[in-house]
Amino acid sequence: MMLEIPMMIGGAQVRTGTPMAVELPFDGSAVATVYRAGAAEVDAAVAAAVEAGPAMRDMTRDERAGILRRAHQMVLERREALATAVMSECGKPIREARVEVDRSAQTLLFSSEEAHRLAGEVVPMDASPSGKGRWAITVREPVGVIAAITPFNFPLNLAMHKIGPALAGGNTVVHKPASTTPLSGLLMAGIFTECGLPKGALNVVTGAGGEIGDELVFHPGVKMVTFTGSAQVGLRIRNLAGLKRVTLELGNNSAVIIEDDANLDEAVPRCVAGSFAHSGQVCISVQRIFVHEKVREEFLERLIAGTRRLVMGHPNEDTTDISSLISVTEAERVEMWLEEAVRAGARLLTGGMRRRASIEPAVLADVPDTVQLSCREAFGPVVGVNTYRDLDDAIGRVNASDYGLQAGIYTRDMEKAFRAAQRVHVGGFLINEVPQYRVDQMPYGGVKMSGNGREGPKYAIEEMTEPKLISWKVG
Ligand code: NAP
Repeated sequence: MMLEIPMMIGGAQVRTGTPMAVELPFDGSAVATVYRAGAAEVDAAVAAAVEAGPAMRDMTRDERAGILRRAHQMVLERREALATAVMSECGKPIREARVEVDRSAQTLLFSSEEAHRLAGEVVPMDASPSGKGRWAITVREPVGVIAAITPFNFPLNLAMHKIGPALAGGNTVVHKPASTTPLSGLLMAGIFTECGLPKGALNVVTGAGGEIGDELVFHPGVKMVTFTGSAQVGLRIRNLAGLKRVTLELGNNSAVIIEDDANLDEAVPRCVAGSFAHSGQVCISVQRIFVHEKVREEFLERLIAGTRRLVMGHPNEDTTDISSLISVTEAERVEMWLEEAVRAGARLLTGGMRRRASIEPAVLADVPDTVQLSCREAFGPVVGVNTYRDLDDAIGRVNASDYGLQAGIYTRDMEKAFRAAQRVHVGGFLINEVPQYRVDQMPYGGVKMSGNGREGPKYAIEEMTEPKLISWKVG
């Protein structure tokens, strides 16, 4: 029987007169029905979050940590159901969906630990001549209602990266998942209720971002917007949000440098996984590889062989490595970008065939810097390999991007590695690892068009709380 999941507003299940079908991207089959929110539902969700504010603020750190720890445990207990929801809504192969569930549980655990650690500092007032006899501390207060807007590609874990730290810091949340992938977010709202979260502390509204996004961002009850998604939408939110706090986790066209002394036994399999996991629909997916001319032939040969071993199929099969993109339209766009690159002189060495929303993983060589596959975010199973002779030239080409989320280098020479680490302009630089590497407690975020602010519960909670100064005079 097909699933029907209402929205969650103020602890109540809410349906509207406009149902929306959730489809398995791989074949377009219907998997669930949810409901399309309008301005009234956004308003009700923000009102419920405002009302729940005092209950969350007044909880002890240990009480908030306890709810998050129970949610961590429940996610692990419901691993298979949540993985099936993630697989069904975004078409991610089931093995990868299980990894996402495990990571989401970790994100909740790290958030619960941060709830315990959240503290201010002692301010050395008498360091100033006029501070004699004064003491001061800062305490961290919740910012209030946080609008959490999340993308389709990691529908569960990226939502937990916002909801976990927000609740740990004593805030309340209105979550708007991507309209293609609302299921796991709605299931999590139920889990949090079971774990004792007060009514209204987490509300989930489903509906089109183009219709209710502005309403949510503008709403006077919303004090902060935390957004993960495309640069285009992120920029719009930033421009509309006025004085509200905004964090933006946006896209990238990640690059990795392969030096002539790189350990190819390690680098090649990681480049294959880093380019093609979830059909390249990962914000830090490897899109540009710069390989030293001395190892070019061997690297390419091994990269092509590794890519051809990937198994395409239904996302529900344990053997599947490559399933589909989020939609046929997205697959057609990637196909057009491939054709454009080839017309401009790139050589397609393997893959690239499209069937419905699926694209065979593609490796290209000699991709001109000017084509979309080089300078924009591909968000598909494609990687371009270009050659260099001089490391500084490779660093310059990595930096010749509007984006700056993560980048990496493979080399055994630590001097070269740190030269690159210092000069590449990104939020995170990985030595002997592909840029498509993330553990959930690390600071994660970008520079340039990749956004601002950092996620990872320790860092997100800083952004989601205000330091308030309390000073007193003695004697
Ligand atoms: P998207 O189209 O920008 O959508 C992201 C979210 O924004 C969705 O919930 C969407 O709702 C909503 N939205 C759309 N228009 C809006 C508006 N005018 N106001 C407010 N919200 C609006 O991105 P996507 O295609 O889902 O995700 C892919 C992008 O996310 C890529 O660029 C990827 O690099 C980026 N990403 C970044 C990170 C990171 O941590 N840096 C992680 C993952 C993904 P609808 O779905 O209803 O349109």
